[in-house]
Amino acid sequence: MLQANYSGCGYTLIADKQGVNLCTRLDEQVVKTDGVMVKEFKLIRPAAECDVIINLAKFKTHVMTGMSGAVKNLFGTVPGLKKAEFHMRFPEKERFSNMIVDLCETVKPTFNIVDAVVGMEGDGPGSGTPRKLGFLLAGADPYYTDLAISHMMGFEPANLPIMKAAIDRGLVPRQLPADCVCGDTAMFGRIENWAMPKSYKVDFSDRVPRPIRWATPTVEKMLAPRPKIKKSACIGCGKCRDICPQQVITIKERKASINMKNCIRCFCCHEMCPVKAIDVKRSIFFNI
Ligand code: SF4
Ligand code: SF4
Repeated sequence: MLQANYSGCGYTLIADKQGVNLCTRLDEQVVKTDGVMVKEFKLIRPAAECDVIINLAKFKTHVMTGMSGAVKNLFGTVPGLKKAEFHMRFPEKERFSNMIVDLCETVKPTFNIVDAVVGMEGDGPGSGTPRKLGFLLAGADPYYTDLAISHMMGFEPANLPIMKAAIDRGLVPRQLPADCVCGDTAMFGRIENWAMPKSYKVDFSDRVPRPIRWATPTVEKMLAPRPKIKKSACIGCGKCRDICPQQVITIKERKASINMKNCIRCFCCHEMCPVKAIDVKRSIFFNI
């Protein structure tokens, strides 16, 4: 059974041709769980009730979590605007990522396929650059599947908050064991010139002199990337304002502006903007 909530994407046509019944019951169902951050999720009904879940993700970067693979894709099982509630409950990316791992442990996808026929690099998932790659990745374990993605994109897994949460829980090793990879292994290498999101940082705490290491979280917060509206490109559609969990975006004279004081840097606005009018700005002080 397929879940259909994208009427314009061609699923309906394909399902008709193949004689597959599409599930249109997208009401919520409460699922109890034994998570570290969350004890109960409200998920779309198919995610709660289906015996087999095939998790179909895209191979792409993500300005908040570095990359969006099999594990992050499961956030799609949380219905529409409920996603914003989770951003409000878990504004720091470390806690948010731990919640995503709770969700993955709850949904437990049976099989994970990652579409890298055309991937996305740069400031994904909303404003990145599509890149033809021409392959599919697949794995029974969503964490190991994501380790493979991070290897190919060139990320250090422990620097990705979702991977770090999974590593800390002992769900996955720090690097993908070589004997886990099969198929066309010649393709399994770091992709040349892969563009990371501007927000991606390398952990520099070990490079800070020991006496001032206590200040590292504060410094990191000051240097954290932030969304910035490109006024000339903004068409005033209000989609960023509607999705913002902190309600810090206002539209005046058909131009959006952000009150950064209460912005939690979830980048939902960046993801939603239909005309790429929201940029990711890194601090001018650091370039690591
Ligand atoms: S302004 Fe953008 S990044 Fe900041 S809280 Fe709102 S949606 Fe998140
Ligand atoms: S979503 Fe983009 S175009 Fe629409 S109001 Fe926000 S910044 Fe402007």
